[in-house]
Amino acid sequence: MPPLPGKEDVMDTEMELYLHIPFCVKKCEYCDFLSGPYDEKTQHAYVLALCNEIRYMGRQIPAKLRSVFIGGGTPSWLDGQEMERIMETVKASFTLLPGAEVTIECNPGTVTREKLSIYRSSGINRLSIGLQSANEEELKLLGRIHTFDRFLHTYEMAREAGFSNISVDIMTGLPGQTKELLSHTLSSVLRLKPEHISAYSLIIEEGTPFYEKYTADEDAEYELMKWAREYLEQRGYHRYEISNYARPGYESLHNTGYWRRVPYIGCGVGAAGLLVGGREGNGELRTENIRDIYRYIELCSQLPDIKIPQGDLYSPLWEEQTPLTREDAMEEFMFLGLRMTEGISAAEFASVFGIGIEEVYGEVLQRFYDQGLMERQKDRIFLTEQGMDVSNMVLAEFLLS
Ligand code: SF4
Repeated sequence: MPPLPGKEDVMDTEMELYLHIPFCVKKCEYCDFLSGPYDEKTQHAYVLALCNEIRYMGRQIPAKLRSVFIGGGTPSWLDGQEMERIMETVKASFTLLPGAEVTIECNPGTVTREKLSIYRSSGINRLSIGLQSANEEELKLLGRIHTFDRFLHTYEMAREAGFSNISVDIMTGLPGQTKELLSHTLSSVLRLKPEHISAYSLIIEEGTPFYEKYTADEDAEYELMKWAREYLEQRGYHRYEISNYARPGYESLHNTGYWRRVPYIGCGVGAAGLLVGGREGNGELRTENIRDIYRYIELCSQLPDIKIPQGDLYSPLWEEQTPLTREDAMEEFMFLGLRMTEGISAAEFASVFGIGIEEVYGEVLQRFYDQGLMERQKDRIFLTEQGMDVSNMVLAEFLLS
């Protein structure tokens, strides 16, 4: 078994922090995330529990953070003071590096001017707003709680509160979506000039109400995705990852960190983390917290009394901890890095793993170069546009076992 990361390994590394807030006003029809409606008492108990976990992890790894992402769920559904409490705990437990990106996910209709001003004063500097569509029929079909007007109101309030870095989520591949409907969504959003747009394809997950009602039409989806990409690129939003577009300089630092395998701590129910310490792919650990919210709250109440263990990192909340082998780390390096349009650096691969990329992946790379799905320019290896269109198939070929 590969060695676990020791504390001395991670102490000086730049890290990211993900905080999971699992609360939503109601469950959307297509959603299989760990989220749902909970009463106020549970929400309050959860915030206290989360703060205990943040403090506990901070005592073990008082990391320097380049980004914090507060995701969910609908974090903006929480009371403003609760969010302030969470941010105060983060700042007391870790060091936020100058220029750190601190994002909160919001849904239209769940924020007020007061909340937005609390977010700003507590250090949150980026909003990610879940719009999904500007068409009322599509919003209803998805089971969203908001209208397009509500989104506009939220967006305007956010600008007034001083947010100069806003991302908007939209969805392609909705049942019955036409180019006209998607065009209406995109033009309505672009009129507002957000800094960043995430355009995800709807995935119809088993176990959701959508699964019973609809089947995906992959060809139509592909055409719409392609059309959306061209539409956005012609209007100054460059695609920097399979589903993400930004105006220059506004690529998400946090998400780019995931694809570059920057280590991160995950706090909250079901949250995942990547703790990276050693060299040559050794000493890396993927962690995942327990998924039962009540058990999470109970275990977190015991954390203040737990002595910080010497040596290896540890949390009683980890339901899964998977030490990564060198091969696991190589696979991740490839299939995460290749999601970005800039791809990966061959020199970095060699320096991290102590072996040339051609020696490990020479055959598969050559095959994709020949098929026009990948390209190499000097040190960089990346998917072509055609390769991005079939990225699932291409990325799967980088599995070593
Ligand atoms: S708001 Fe987001 S997390 Fe909540 S139910 Fe809807 S899709 Fe899921």
